Amino acid sequence: MRVLLIEDEVDLARGIRKALEEEGYAVDVAYDGEDGLFQAEKVDYDALLLDLMLPGVDGWSILQRLRETKLTPVLILTARDALSDRIRGLDNGADDYLTKPFDLGEMLARLRALIRRSKAHPSPLLSIGDIEIDTNSRTVQRGGQVVSLTPKEYSLLQLLALHRGQLVTKSMIYDHIYNDDGDTFSNVVDVYISSLRKKLGREFVKTRRGEGYIIDA
Ligand code: CA
Repeated sequence: MRVLLIEDEVDLARGIRKALEEEGYAVDVAYDGEDGLFQAEKVDYDALLLDLMLPGVDGWSILQRLRETKLTPVLILTARDALSDRIRGLDNGADDYLTKPFDLGEMLARLRALIRRSKAHPSPLLSIGDIEIDTNSRTVQRGGQVVSLTPKEYSLLQLLALHRGQLVTKSMIYDHIYNDDGDTFSNVVDVYISSLRKKLGREFVKTRRGEGYIIDA
């Protein structure tokens, strides 16, 4: 999952980014509204974390502009007690909000819920054959046995599983698994796919030569 954080408070942004990366998200950060809007329109993020009070273009304007073209789930971050700000944010198309200061664990849980709803998978559990994926705890079992995956392997598996029965192209993988400053050499994806096959079964992920990968529904 790849998310964009738009937040001008550098220390807060650093803390949020770290928490997200520890959960395996690919994270881009924008420190002002103009850059944030530019990135949010350019990339198909899985979710946006959006501060409302920003230099340049404010959060409400970003929401308004973004909603003309994109359905990206948006979690707004607002100052404490600013009820009218939150209402205006929700009215402008935000999906949920957190008031500062907030608990990072709650932020992560709300983000997971937002992303689940946006992918039309209301349950945190994904079952495919004998593979079971718990997207809350980010754990995977095969035939009841826990399978240990690296964060990138997990992210790739989750992306494929959320799109099961559909072709997942390499460019989708780059868009959702890496952030702007990640290394994106195409053979790296092949390496992750082959290690997923080793851990989850050779037939689990199929290659469509020249197109991408698919997990059968
Ligand atoms: Ca701010």
